[in-house]
Amino acid sequence: MFLRKLELHGFKSFAHNTTLEFQRGISAIVGPNGGGKSNIADALRFVLGEQSMKSIRSKKSEDLIFSGSATRGRMSMANVTLHFDNHDKAFPVDFESVIVQRKIFRDGENQYSINGAQVRLKDLAELIAKAKLGLKGYTIINQGMGDAILESSAKERKEIIFEALGLKEFQLKRADAMLKLSHTTVNLEKAEGIAREIEPHLKFLKKQAEKIEERHASEEKLAALERTYLQKRMRAVSAAVHQREAEASREETRIAELRHAIDGIAREIEEKQGASTTAFEGVSGLETSLLEEETKRNAIEREIGKVEGMIAAFRAESNKVIAINVAYVREQMEDLRRELASAMEEQQADAMREKLHAFAHKFGVLLETVRSEKVKAPQTGVDNSAHLAQETARLAELLAQSGERVRSIKEQTKNTYAAHSAEREKIFELKNAQKEKEHACARAEEQRSMVHKEIEELNKEKEVLDKEKLFLESKGAVFLIEDDGVMLTADEEEMRRSIERLRVRLENIDLIDENVAREHQDTQIRYDFLIKETEDLRQAISSLHEAIGELDAIITGRFREAFKKINENFQKYFSLLFEGGSARIEVVDNTQEETEEEEEGEKRNAKEEYGVDIEVTLPRKKASGLAVMSGGERALTSLALLFALVSTAPPPFLVLDEIDAPLDEANSLRYGKMLHELKAHTQFVVITHNRETMRQADVLYGVTMQEDGVSKLLSMKFETMAGTV
Ligand code: ATP
Repeated sequence: MFLRKLELHGFKSFAHNTTLEFQRGISAIVGPNGGGKSNIADALRFVLGEQSMKSIRSKKSEDLIFSGSATRGRMSMANVTLHFDNHDKAFPVDFESVIVQRKIFRDGENQYSINGAQVRLKDLAELIAKAKLGLKGYTIINQGMGDAILESSAKERKEIIFEALGLKEFQLKRADAMLKLSHTTVNLEKAEGIAREIEPHLKFLKKQAEKIEERHASEEKLAALERTYLQKRMRAVSAAVHQREAEASREETRIAELRHAIDGIAREIEEKQGASTTAFEGVSGLETSLLEEETKRNAIEREIGKVEGMIAAFRAESNKVIAINVAYVREQMEDLRRELASAMEEQQADAMREKLHAFAHKFGVLLETVRSEKVKAPQTGVDNSAHLAQETARLAELLAQSGERVRSIKEQTKNTYAAHSAEREKIFELKNAQKEKEHACARAEEQRSMVHKEIEELNKEKEVLDKEKLFLESKGAVFLIEDDGVMLTADEEEMRRSIERLRVRLENIDLIDENVAREHQDTQIRYDFLIKETEDLRQAISSLHEAIGELDAIITGRFREAFKKINENFQKYFSLLFEGGSARIEVVDNTQEETEEEEEGEKRNAKEEYGVDIEVTLPRKKASGLAVMSGGERALTSLALLFALVSTAPPPFLVLDEIDAPLDEANSLRYGKMLHELKAHTQFVVITHNRETMRQADVLYGVTMQEDGVSKLLSMKFETMAGTV
């Protein structure tokens, strides 16, 4: 990387558009005092982002803008553009040339751009740092700042050396990490503090939330139990109602059947009673008939007796004739009478008839016998006897008939009576049956009314349960149509007891504001977040410690390595310029007095505190140290140190503003040689009045200022230069 071109417009005395093209090697800027040479060095500082007005020899930003002259008005803006060749990618960007530009306006506004794109100062500073170009007095050494490195404190010197060694970038990174570390530590403490503060409240909220949860769980369980229990009860009641209704209907049917049966029996009884009455009436009719018939028979018997008397009388009349026969007839008749009586007594109609026939036959035979006896008797007697016999036969016939009728009536009476008593018996039985049925009916009616009462009770319970269901539904309960499975098979009594127990438990759980649960949740989230954050922060702190450790290792390692070389070169250039003597730099630790108990982080911070001291002894002089040196000696010492740094870690370019002014001729020669030696690795822009220095230059620019107060640039060819200066 090297400086290719510098463009100025409106910067300090450069009112015109001015362009300086640089070469590798040495570019010298020459010209009379006050021509504006140092303004070029200022412009270089300015464009690289210098923020210190003092470093660019100004008090305020307006001083940087062309302030006008007798012939030319002031300008509103200063603009400086610097072109870098970036073929070696010293700037870690893809461009082969890097163009940085800075503008400043009268109101103090600054604008920065890199390759045409406007950027922040921070971006520019980063880019400059990445290319290891610092502004700490090393790459641009202003006029009068030659011995700045000697003037600086040990710590500042260390900074200059760090910059020279390209450790600035790591330092910046380290500082950044340290800043982050301190922020992170503060944040960690804050987070831990808040977490600690929240903890007791969170614990309290957790307990409350657990109680609420327990309450919810119990309420839910209770609701489920109540719901299930109710459902179960409803089902049971419905089933009971159903069953009772069926029972009532069965009783109803039974009652109807019984009533029907009772009515049937009543009708039957009525019928039977009619029959019985009829039978009874039949009996009395028959008894009358029997009486009549018996009267008739008595009359017949009396008639027979009369006839028999007549026969006896007849017999007595014809006793002589038929004495023998009469005894015989009487005997025969007596037999016949007995037979007749026997026939009359006969119960069986057929047997009676038979006996009567036998009687009639025997009577006929006897009559024939008597008749034949009569032939022998007087005629009259014979006629009477025949007539009587006839009468007797007729009467016997009548008697037989009457006997037949009596027997028939008796038979009928007996039958009718039997029928009557059978009816009575039946009626009695029916009445018993009726009574039984009536009892059964009464019992059924009683049962029915009992069942109705039960149904009524069940319906009342059903109403209560329905109301309860509506109430539970209003509280959000959902009743399943389907069976609730296991629960419904659970013991009803056990369920009821569980409900009671849950109700008691709920009464014993304090009523806690439901918002507590929400608060607990929020607080828990916050707490978890804080814990997570503290973990992340601890992780970040440990990563930062690690990164800082690594950076420290790089910085310390490189510094130590370079330190030796710087001292060798310092000694070399010092003894060259002073023709002897000794010079070295050494690290001084300002942290020695700090104790070991200190925190690791603080120790790390303390490391930053060390600095660099310069120890010099001039040849042939007793006294040593910077304090006793003359101005020239100081200038030579700082030059020796500067070149020691440049040779140890060659910067891409170095601007030296009249650094060579205090040198005597011999040293000017040495200085020229040194430049020549170092230009192989470093591009030099030197502002000088020194001929020896000009001799070393590859390009010369002349800067002059005319009456108009505007700096002008003259490019001079090397060949012609020697004569001009
Ligand atoms: P020397 O050789 O004496 O060190 P030099 O060539 O380095 O001189 P500079 O210091 O660069 O000169 O220039 C100073 C000149 O620039 C002065 O004349 C000063 O008036 C002029 N100058 C500085 N700032 C402005 C400005 N804002 N507007 C106009 N001119 C300015």
